Amino acid sequence: MDSSLVDRIQQCPNLPSMPAIAMEVLTLAQSPDADIPKIAKTISQDPALSGKILRTVNSSFYGRSQAVGTISQGLVILGLQSVKTLVLGFSLVTNLSKSQGKGFKHLSYWKHSIYAATAARSIAKKLNVLQQEEAFLAALLMDIGMLVLDTVISDEYGAVCAQAKTHEELVIAETAALGLTHADAGGVMAAMWKLPPLLATPIAKHHDAASVEDPQLRKLTELVHLAARCADVFVDEEAAEPISAVRSLCREQHGLTDADADALLADIGQRTKEVATLFEINIGSTAAYEAILKRANEALVEMTLQSQAQASALQEKASTLVQQNEALRYKAETDALTGLANRARFDQFIAEQMHVAKSSGKPLSLLMMDVDKFKSVNDKHGHPTGDKVLKSIGKLLGTAARAQDLAARYGGEEMVLVLPGTAKATAAAIAESIRRAICAKPIPIDTGVLAVSASIGVATFEAGSPLTSPAHLMKAADLAVYAAKHAGRNCVRVFTMNTKAA
Ligand code: GH3
Ligand code: MG
Ligand code: MG
Repeated sequence: MDSSLVDRIQQCPNLPSMPAIAMEVLTLAQSPDADIPKIAKTISQDPALSGKILRTVNSSFYGRSQAVGTISQGLVILGLQSVKTLVLGFSLVTNLSKSQGKGFKHLSYWKHSIYAATAARSIAKKLNVLQQEEAFLAALLMDIGMLVLDTVISDEYGAVCAQAKTHEELVIAETAALGLTHADAGGVMAAMWKLPPLLATPIAKHHDAASVEDPQLRKLTELVHLAARCADVFVDEEAAEPISAVRSLCREQHGLTDADADALLADIGQRTKEVATLFEINIGSTAAYEAILKRANEALVEMTLQSQAQASALQEKASTLVQQNEALRYKAETDALTGLANRARFDQFIAEQMHVAKSSGKPLSLLMMDVDKFKSVNDKHGHPTGDKVLKSIGKLLGTAARAQDLAARYGGEEMVLVLPGTAKATAAAIAESIRRAICAKPIPIDTGVLAVSASIGVATFEAGSPLTSPAHLMKAADLAVYAAKHAGRNCVRVFTMNTKAA
């Protein structure tokens, strides 16, 4: 916030002071055992103010069946809070509406304020928020900072206002030109008037409710912001944008449907006419919400279609990205020839599974398979046939893998199968069934069929096993393969501490 401008606000002699009666009522109402007769007497000293209050409490805005004849009656029937709010509201509005700036549009200012105040009360009622009076008054005064800036830096502020078509644009123009917004200026004024937080916070933060920490104050601030957007519907030249904003705020913050939001706006349009009369605020000729909505409908449909198109384009882009990522990941982890996991994926998987095995105490087995005399397949039938054999054996190994296992091509004609949670004997049995399946299924090639076999080594990590790392397990499985080759190939060998190194 621009501190020199804040200083100028605080030292400006022309700013409206808190009206004396309002001040006195606030002070009296603040004491724990508020003296109701004394408050009634204070208010009654101002006949114009009392008259306005009585007219208001008997209006349909309050919806009382029982007529209220005097201020003391009003205090009993409506409660201190309601009457206090009305005193503050009426006396401030009377005081403030006397000021006249140059470039500042007072008519639309007051029109916006009274629509927002009525809206805040209607929304608070609809949402069963207890502080309906504070909501009304905070919304009525939320843009007080505009009057403050109009008084303190009249010409400059007029120029800023001229740049903005909507309230949203105004906030941007203020920040750029002045280094603070009217909400900030309103907060300074609220502090000077010593308004309670239930009023001061929504005034200062109505464009930034999310930054309010106290949940009750945040809720009230959000409500006041929503009320401002409702007022925009009736004040802005183009109603489509604020209507759409009100609908989405209602949906997202309060779980209300579009129909609820429309009903709320229609009600606000109706009630404000009466409230504006009571506050002697000229709102000019205003169309009913139904007519405003009808005029804005075409633009609204256009906006809805646009945002739907944007959303579906975004969704499409996201799902393409997901697919691309998936494809990249598959490619990064898969051996192109056999479709099994590649070496990198195997290294990662076995490291993870070794960790799991150690922490859970469950065994972990590794099968290493080496195709027998494979070099001669290449030599006799050519490299492409060799590839075909690798593909076929890879498929077989992949089929043998259970859900928890990982079959991978380790390199060349060596393939591996990681068997989490599998003890030595079971791993050996699985290895044997794979060996048999390879033998039992000669591979069709151009010139007939080709019988192939493989030698398989098994190594297991289990309780008390010295094979405590993936490298140990690999070395042991490799030694077992070597033993199988040494024993004549096409067989399974299980690593034991007696397995001989090459
Ligand atoms: P042993 O029974 O002792 O394992 O005999 P071997 O012939 O299989 O042994 P060696 O490890 O010497 O031969 C492996 C051969 O595998 C050598 C290499 O040309 C071949 N090879 C490795 N990768 C591929 C591949 O991707 N495609 C084909 N077609 N051949 C490959
Ligand atoms: Mg080899
Ligand atoms: Mg081999």
